[in-house]
Amino acid sequence: MNPVEFERRRILVIGAGPSGAIAAALLKRNGHDVLVLERQRFPRFSIGESLLAHCLDFVEEAGMLDAVRAAGFQVKHGAAFSWDGRYSEFDFREKFTPGKDSTFQVQRATFDALLADQAAAQGVEIRYEEEIVSVDMDGPKPRLGVRRLDGSHYGVECDFVLDGSGYGRVLPRLLDLDTPSAFPVRRALFTHVEDRIDDPAFDREKILVSVHPRFRDVWFWSIPFSDGRCSVGVVAEAGRYAGRPEDLQACLQQFIEETPHLARLLRNARWDTPVRVLDGYSANVKRLHGPGFALLGNAAEFLDPVFSSGVTIAMRSASMAAGLLHRQLSGEAVDWEAEFAVPLKRGVDTFRAYVEGWYDGSFQDVIFHPGSSAEIRRMISSILAGYAWDASNPYVAEPKRRLRVLAELCATPR
Ligand SMILES: Cc1cc2nc3c(=O)[nH]c(=O)nc-3n(C[C@H](O)[C@H](O)[C@H](O)COP(=O)(O)OP(=O)(O)OC[C@H]3O[C@@H](n4cnc5c(N)ncnc54)[C@H](O)[C@@H]3O)c2cc1C
Repeated sequence: MNPVEFERRRILVIGAGPSGAIAAALLKRNGHDVLVLERQRFPRFSIGESLLAHCLDFVEEAGMLDAVRAAGFQVKHGAAFSWDGRYSEFDFREKFTPGKDSTFQVQRATFDALLADQAAAQGVEIRYEEEIVSVDMDGPKPRLGVRRLDGSHYGVECDFVLDGSGYGRVLPRLLDLDTPSAFPVRRALFTHVEDRIDDPAFDREKILVSVHPRFRDVWFWSIPFSDGRCSVGVVAEAGRYAGRPEDLQACLQQFIEETPHLARLLRNARWDTPVRVLDGYSANVKRLHGPGFALLGNAAEFLDPVFSSGVTIAMRSASMAAGLLHRQLSGEAVDWEAEFAVPLKRGVDTFRAYVEGWYDGSFQDVIFHPGSSAEIRRMISSILAGYAWDASNPYVAEPKRRLRVLAELCATPR
């Protein structure tokens, strides 16, 4: 492409999902020129509907909290867990770390469109149905190739690229930054149902995570929305699907039928939406930044959905990167490794310790133990609310050691 054809912009953000919309708005609020290119038309479906309380700190920072509160999403106060007749719940209002004590369960099509519209209302230019297809980081400034819906192409040259492309993983793919995740390949089946749940004990203000009675590594989410509908999904290693129905709905329903508490809750549900599948979604990268770029949210690392941490990590990375980029563009020196990658990974590694503990059963033992102390539950609530960077919480400061000690006290025979 001839250089004269390149459009000149200050900051290019790839993707208008939560990480892209928050980063773009924060930079615009600091007076920078930002262009967001999004390959889909919004509203569009996305998975990731149960938010954590901490993510609202970033929604607020980006000036979008009033709009989100006014949108009528289902309020969420915590997380409930059920396994083989046991039930345990954690309430964000009782958490150890100060901060937001509630959040929302959102239809992501509506939520993501709302955030993007809020960013646009603050002056961010967003172009939909325009896809980044190439990148050249070898020149003095990043240059990206864009394909429009009609097949035509153009180029953008900018000072800095923020990659918020989520599962699109644009820069990791194009710059060969991908590296395998340490987690095994898991598959999720999910849909939305009209739930018709009539159990008065069911708390619509919490996500319900149900564990399969025989396979403790197989779990389900039920995320109620404010309109009588519910997101329902199962997560299991690929091998757990062997010998099950090929039809996705029949397969998901078979898993649910094997899990009595969940089967009872959903016995009147109306299955009116096709079941979707996502495979091998855990991903990692060699580095989170380089000259002229940084990776946000899922474009960087995605751990596992069990603690609903994805959107919170995405927004936290967006807030951190936007702050650093503002300083850099204002002429300050920024150490992206020490000020972005290392501190971001600290919270991600906290979540990682509890995700590993979930699948090896040790954290489940803690969650379902009937006698755990109120103080410890408050500290765990903080992590489940997303405050995984609060080093004053001993279960954040030393997650592996603390979890090991606690798990030994709470161990169930296996
Ligand atoms: C089974 C499952 C369940 C989950 N449940 C939860 C949950 O309950 N709570 C939670 O917080 N998280 C959850 N997550 C994680 C959540 O989906 C993600 O962490 C979150 O969506 C990441 O936001 P993002 O902004 O990084 O990316 P995305 O939301 O994926 O947005 C990226 C955007 O970039 C665009 N894009 C991609 N490629 C290009 C391109 N080449 N050019 C231009 N635009 C492009 C896409 O169209 C998209 O709109 C779950 C994940 C899985 C797999």
